[in-house]
Amino acid sequence: MGPTKVISKAGALYEVKTDKLVQDGLPTRTEQETYAAQHYIALPVIDKAGKQWVLEGQPVFCLHGTQYETVDDQKVHLARCPDCGGMGIRDDEPLVESDCIRCVQCGHEFDTRLEMMET
Ligand SMILES: [Zn+2]
Repeated sequence: MGPTKVISKAGALYEVKTDKLVQDGLPTRTEQETYAAQHYIALPVIDKAGKQWVLEGQPVFCLHGTQYETVDDQKVHLARCPDCGGMGIRDDEPLVESDCIRCVQCGHEFDTRLEMMET
């Protein structure tokens, strides 16, 4: 069992699956992140502008710093765009033997293997 996935609505955090109130009185992302750090919950991933990642209409959650999962606990191969913090999806080119990731927001292409070496 991973951390509880939550979404924020009007300054309160709700369990994404059950819609159960987890905590209210957290109007800002900073306060929500502080709360998340002290509890076993995961917040939706946002880009540098604070916009939530959306994959097939659903928010995306980051677990253990590198693993991305959907609301339904499906592991997804995504990466964070180094430019805008947007969602990078793998290019579905069956003929290309690469790990090329493309940001859905700014179109920036990057290689996750390179990103990992740099960090
Ligand atoms: Zn980007």
